[in-house]
Amino acid sequence: MNEKRKTAMSRSKNMSRVKSKDTKPEIFLRKLLWHEGFRYRINFKDLPGKPDIFIPNHNTAIFINGCFWHVHENCKLSTIPKTNRDFWEKKLKGNVERDKKNIKKLEDMGINVLVIWGCEIKAMEKNEEVMKRKVKELIKEIINRDKK
Ligand SMILES: [Zn+2]
Repeated sequence: MNEKRKTAMSRSKNMSRVKSKDTKPEIFLRKLLWHEGFRYRINFKDLPGKPDIFIPNHNTAIFINGCFWHVHENCKLSTIPKTNRDFWEKKLKGNVERDKKNIKKLEDMGINVLVIWGCEIKAMEKNEEVMKRKVKELIKEIINRDKK
């Protein structure tokens, strides 16, 4: 292999590592759902809010929301920074409002919407019992809501 090519390859490997780090909670959940037999589309652009996961067979959209950016109520990962407080309050409030609008749009289209918080995924990653329980709950929600 020539040197140039090798460099390009290792660079792309590094980049993919960085990227997968950014989206780790999504990947974790996707793998679990895939393992449970669900087939889905990711970052589905045709739907409001571009759901992280969309399961056509169950007409279910799943958002994996970071606790800070999407303001998870009563969560210790969701705090407004003390500096530039006004800016952050406005910014985060805007995110929450946009989320609400997108969820409403999806529900009006007859799509079931599930929101999973970053802290829930973290808890799942840390503890297998929590993970199993959450997966069971999640499957129930995907399947039950579908029958409604
Ligand atoms: Zn949280």
